[in-house]
Amino acid sequence: MFGFKFLGNTPVPHRKNTAAMPAVRLPVHKEVLLHVAQHIGAPAKVVVKVGDEVKVGTLIAEAGGAVSAPVHSSVSGKVTKIEKLMCYNGQQVDAVRIESDGLMTADESITPPDIHDLDSLIEAVRASGAVGLGGAGFPTAVKLAAAKNGNIKTVVINGAECEPYITSDTRTMLDDTDSVVYGVKLLLDNMPTVEQIIFGIESNKRECINKLSEAFKDNAKVKVKALPALYPQGSEKVIVHNTTGIAVPTGKLPAECGVIVLNVSTLAFIARYAKTGMPLVERTLTVDGSAIAEPKNVTVPVGTPISYVIEAAGGIKDGKSLGKVLYGGPMMGVCVCTVDDPVLKTTNAITALDVKDSNPPAETACIHCGRCVAACPHSLNPTEFARALNVEIKEDRMAKLQATQVLSCMECGCCSFVCPAHRPLIQNNRIAKAELKDYLAHQATLKN
Ligand code: SF4
Ligand code: SF4
Repeated sequence: MFGFKFLGNTPVPHRKNTAAMPAVRLPVHKEVLLHVAQHIGAPAKVVVKVGDEVKVGTLIAEAGGAVSAPVHSSVSGKVTKIEKLMCYNGQQVDAVRIESDGLMTADESITPPDIHDLDSLIEAVRASGAVGLGGAGFPTAVKLAAAKNGNIKTVVINGAECEPYITSDTRTMLDDTDSVVYGVKLLLDNMPTVEQIIFGIESNKRECINKLSEAFKDNAKVKVKALPALYPQGSEKVIVHNTTGIAVPTGKLPAECGVIVLNVSTLAFIARYAKTGMPLVERTLTVDGSAIAEPKNVTVPVGTPISYVIEAAGGIKDGKSLGKVLYGGPMMGVCVCTVDDPVLKTTNAITALDVKDSNPPAETACIHCGRCVAACPHSLNPTEFARALNVEIKEDRMAKLQATQVLSCMECGCCSFVCPAHRPLIQNNRIAKAELKDYLAHQATLKN
């Protein structure tokens, strides 16, 4: 039966090697490559052409639908190519290649937005190109628009950052506290139904908890909650549960339960945008992993090649060979196609693993130990997904998959992490989810 429980005890190591390292702003690379699909939803539509001169903040692709986000140039320079590019998720998308002139001249149109109520806040956030910076990439304006129904009472600010290695949110909380504080003011001033804002931060980030507790000590509407430092504390439904006590049911969004969740770096970005009008054109990320010589936090223009940030982190450790390079952390991250791929808006980390860490041990037969079920924060049974996937007749397979509640799987990877037989559970979960989602979408079109 689906349900929340305490996070379990999956012993995912923290490896926060860079927690004490403020981000270093790197010299601008000679070229950036900007995808039009750096968010969940419809890809943006390119509005520039080869040869156009652009500046930092110039719109290069407009939102492609209601759930979408615009993309802006992250450097000043010239558009040299518009090409189709294979994304990490297999999608072919347009990408705009821009040669930097090294000057980083801001577009003249950049001015702070007029934010005075909920509608103007949503409109400003939409224009800023903001997406969930914790890695999910959901367009932030769409999330905030849920508050228009008047039911949103709580905003949870996600500062859990529970994946191994990643510390970019930690550094935002410590190094850009003023933006975090101003972001909270923007929400409280412009979201009239919101009664409380709760920061959820893992207890291993004591400095962040102390700093934000001090910053909000006179604001009765803001709470800073220390959460157990257990993976996957930062997962959206888990953090809603562990900060508010609300269990968001399967198939529903937190907003349907009166809660919006914003990543803490997203909040800080919105505050900076409100003050400057500069869209989302740069990214602070952690560069770490077993193959990295000198782990670091860095700030770079969106679109900077991954190879460049790896070089800035000392390159590959002596005596190590590069195995896999991931967008994000080792639990939920996805492999990049090549190290020439760009840093995206959603890239909170680049994790480079050596060959040993990149190759899991050979799988053996399931021993029915139940550890995967015990580790799952949603009490799901991934062995059932695998069994359902083997059902031959499609209709029966889909019915079985639905019965397993596979769509509640948040792909946290805890089941795979604990499996003594090294079963490819997370891989199966993804295949099962994708097949069921496709099927349900097709069924919905038949009904309409
Ligand atoms: S990947 Fe899915 S099934 Fe596995 S532990 Fe996480 S939520 Fe549960
Ligand atoms: S943890 Fe692995 S071996 Fe144990 S029941 Fe789950 S799939 Fe089977």
